[in-house]
Amino acid sequence: MSPYEAATYFFHSAADRLKLSDDMRAVLSSSYRELAVQIPVRMDDGRLEVFRGYRIQHNGARGPYKGGVRYHESADLDEVRALAALMTWKNALIDVPFGGAKGGVQCEPGVLSREELQRLTRSFTAMISYVIGVHRDIPAPDMGTNAQTMAWMMDAYGKKYGYEPAIVTGKPVELGGSPGREEATGHGVVICAREAAKRLGVDWKNARIVVQGFGNVGYWTSAIGQELGATIVGVSDVGGGTYNPRGLDVAKLRDHMKDSISVASYGDGDQVTNEELLELDCDILIPAAIHGVINTGNSDRVKAKVIVEAANGPTTPAADQILEARGVKVVPDILANCGGVTVSYFEWVQNIQQFRWELDNVNFELKKRMKKASEQVFSYATDHELPLRDAAFDISVERVAHAAEIRGYV
Ligand code: NAD
Repeated sequence: MSPYEAATYFFHSAADRLKLSDDMRAVLSSSYRELAVQIPVRMDDGRLEVFRGYRIQHNGARGPYKGGVRYHESADLDEVRALAALMTWKNALIDVPFGGAKGGVQCEPGVLSREELQRLTRSFTAMISYVIGVHRDIPAPDMGTNAQTMAWMMDAYGKKYGYEPAIVTGKPVELGGSPGREEATGHGVVICAREAAKRLGVDWKNARIVVQGFGNVGYWTSAIGQELGATIVGVSDVGGGTYNPRGLDVAKLRDHMKDSISVASYGDGDQVTNEELLELDCDILIPAAIHGVINTGNSDRVKAKVIVEAANGPTTPAADQILEARGVKVVPDILANCGGVTVSYFEWVQNIQQFRWELDNVNFELKKRMKKASEQVFSYATDHELPLRDAAFDISVERVAHAAEIRGYV
């Protein structure tokens, strides 16, 4: 099943439960706009390489389109389409006034130089500038992109249309970014994981946590999770993983990464593969890298009691059913990783109002919204005897369908 088929599967099962009309289903199961662009980039060695980029706007019933930009070799039309739809449901669930969108460039950012990345980003921004806008569609970072990428995007857009810091979120703080945005997704994952632990009988202070991915989301999830008392026993990145049942020191791991290419070579842990990492003995498993990693090939061997989906789409629909039958609770991506877009919303508001918030204020508002959304999902799941993902999708799809209906889309 492709990423888009998986995302659509969860939507259609919500549409069945909610008895959505065929007309509404047709509107919400397809994208509003799909822009595919050619991005010619002059490489450092003089060659011209042509990359493929996308900006996909799924649904804008609840507000301007909002979603990250991914640089990854798998970021094709299908994957970006799936991620755009997930943003619609995520934004509705956390109740920020945005529709859903996503961007992607099919490339390997790790092999591009800084200058090549800058030329690629400026060119991509110019190509999609016709469909983005402060009140139209606001990009942000995702896998393979970061605050620097957003700075280049803001600058490239500004050269064409004038200074508009609110055109992207996840910018460096010096350029109008929000305090707390860099760590926001990981911070939100931890808030949500603690809410889940409380309700599912896992004692956070004794919890053993495994995290797949040690980029923005995986690192901050590990660091904040450890700061709040949990033990991080395993982490990985694309090069493999490291496991220590007594606990890994996340700050030391971060230092290790300053002159290493992978956490796998960390000295104070046993080397494991990514496949082994997902099956380690632990209380909470947090996939924070890529989609489809928990699938029919391994879901019957996952030992965690709870999976908190920090990545987008890490569990396939078939694996979801196996985990449900085994009693493994899955906290879905559209709830667990919405801290990033929540603080992106705060950044957008600050840029429009030209008024900077304090970090304490950002974190207070983030916590309040994450706790409220978690409470709504857990209560709905209990009241309707549904898995957490079904509850989350029902709440989101109902909100978007209602907005679409009162706007007169259907
Ligand atoms: P990142 O590029 O900063 O880090 C990605 C990490 O995943 C790296 O450690 C990389 O080595 C690892 N990785 C990549 N491919 C892998 C593979 N095949 N197997 C194992 N590890 C692999 O990206 P990020 O921003 O941390 O995003 C991670 C996930 O979180 C993505 O699914 C993204 O869509 C999701 N997400 C990110 C944000 C955000 O604010 N950055 C918000 C919501 C969701």
